[in-house]
Amino acid sequence: MKFSQLKLTTPYLKHEALFFDKVQPTPLAKPFIISVSQDAAKLLGVDEDLLDDAMLLDIVNGSQKLEGSEPFAMCYAGHQFGYFVARLGDGRAINLGKVNGQNLQLKGSGLTLYSRLGDGRAVLRSSIREYLMSEAMHGLGISTSRALALIGSDTDVARERWEKGAIVLRLSPTWVRFGTFEYFNASREPKMIQDLADYVIEESFAHLKGVEGCYLKMYAEIVKNTAQTIASWISVGFNHGVMNTDNMSIDGRTIDYGPFAFLDDYESYYICNHTDRDGRYSFKSQIGIGYSNLEKLAMAISPILHHEAALEVLAELYYQAYEEEYLKRMRKRFGLFQSDDEDKFLINAMLGNLENAQIDYNLFFRELSRYDGDKSPILDIAVSREPLERCLDMYETRLQKETITQAQRQIKMLEVNPKYILKNHILQVAIDKAKTDDFSMVNDLLKVALNPFSEHKEHEYLCIATPQKFKNIKLSCSS
Ligand code: AMP
Ligand code: MG
Repeated sequence: MKFSQLKLTTPYLKHEALFFDKVQPTPLAKPFIISVSQDAAKLLGVDEDLLDDAMLLDIVNGSQKLEGSEPFAMCYAGHQFGYFVARLGDGRAINLGKVNGQNLQLKGSGLTLYSRLGDGRAVLRSSIREYLMSEAMHGLGISTSRALALIGSDTDVARERWEKGAIVLRLSPTWVRFGTFEYFNASREPKMIQDLADYVIEESFAHLKGVEGCYLKMYAEIVKNTAQTIASWISVGFNHGVMNTDNMSIDGRTIDYGPFAFLDDYESYYICNHTDRDGRYSFKSQIGIGYSNLEKLAMAISPILHHEAALEVLAELYYQAYEEEYLKRMRKRFGLFQSDDEDKFLINAMLGNLENAQIDYNLFFRELSRYDGDKSPILDIAVSREPLERCLDMYETRLQKETITQAQRQIKMLEVNPKYILKNHILQVAIDKAKTDDFSMVNDLLKVALNPFSEHKEHEYLCIATPQKFKNIKLSCSS
């Protein structure tokens, strides 16, 4: 099946007109394809090469339509940095329709009813970041929206300086956000909240259809999924940067990649977003913010369920689901397969020491995956060796309890500790090259992003330690 042969449906348009704005994309000037993810296309049932499809560019640019497509933008509200904004919505995203359980959405495709003061555009730099990171998170085994194609153009877009406009074709099983419920709660529309909840159950939690107490059960699933996704972020060192409730997917997956970052050196309260002066969305704060965003969701759906019961579910489930997922992932990262009550202590002690040692978080785990009793390859990448050395002694003792061989442990650890992490300094090189019309690195990064645990000898240069001046820098929100 070719991409251009897909037939879309638009179940979201069955809602009342208040839910959306039927709007046509505004194509970019002189568009061209920068990169495609054949892997993402498989989700749609596409098995023919995207680059052989003459219509792909026009469809992503919005100048041609897939059969059945009826473009629309969705409305939503949201708590932005703690403050409620009653009317947000897809200001620069336009949904095309759905196929194979995936909703296709263009980001950067022009004005909608919800654009407010924006221009409906996305610049090349931020589109490269979103495109690559969607695929990288998938490669790392983290629940996320996907990106099928990235196109560039000759359209000028005004930011701090003039930049070029781009569009990413994103895919997600749902584009409903916590903020979508908040929108209808703020406009005091209980009937709409119920309609939306029924839609979410149909789209994301079909096993709850017709089940007694389904809204509370739906909420419980959202709590669990959100906690698990945040646990996966913390274990891999991902900082989202803008965890506003409008950027929280209702099925808990990672969406809306903005000024995100992977940790360079381990720093528990690292802030990646330049605008986030108080560190509201700093690395470890993400755990508590997930909880408080779920409180806001509980409030937004309170017209259709018992609010106190939802809060009880949240209190009971959230940290339990978080801990379980986090420990599961971290124990694998450390190569600990026998369970030991002291493991949590060991993990925390090691992280504290990583922070003191000033060591690249993911490089540490990649080196640890080859640990054979000789600590020097690990200590050599730390600025301060001593505290880490003592903690590695503890680790060595703990390894004695394992029953698998050292070689088996190393293989298993190399399968979960990525060699390739798209840290910001690497993304920036790809962006700088793209600005000179050299998109080769975007495609190189896509390749390693989708397969980050393998060696890729030809791309070894992509996994260097972050140069000192680029370590744990903050990024601007402008995109
Ligand atoms: P974000 O911070 O990207 O999640 O965006 C927050 C809100 O602002 C969303 O409703 C976006 O659709 C909207 N927005 C961001 N940038 C633009 C833009 N250039 N044009 C129109 N709306 C935008
Ligand atoms: Mg957003």
